[in-house]
Amino acid sequence: MNCPKCKSVQIIKYGHTHYGKPRFRCQDCGRQFVLNATRQPIDEPTRQLIDKLLLERLALAAIARVTGVSERWLQMYVFQKFYQTPKAIDVTPKKQVG
Ligand SMILES: [Zn+2]
Repeated sequence: MNCPKCKSVQIIKYGHTHYGKPRFRCQDCGRQFVLNATRQPIDEPTRQLIDKLLLERLALAAIARVTGVSERWLQMYVFQKFYQTPKAIDVTPKKQVG
């Protein structure tokens, strides 16, 4: 395990998140992070590309194919991006307007 920011291995356990996942902290750069269940870490350039493609209103399936991420991950990413502070958890993404 190493830091997602600086790749340091000086990682200490740092409590838990609200959801009970163990949280870690990098002793080198101070970055706090949680190990998530996604098997494939999506790097920043890919995320930026995805953001651009989303703005182009491409279908998620197309974006997933172009960028090589899984559709499941992409759906999660989009959900987190646009519904980051859900008041109601059962908000379902509506079809695109316009
Ligand atoms: Zn670090």
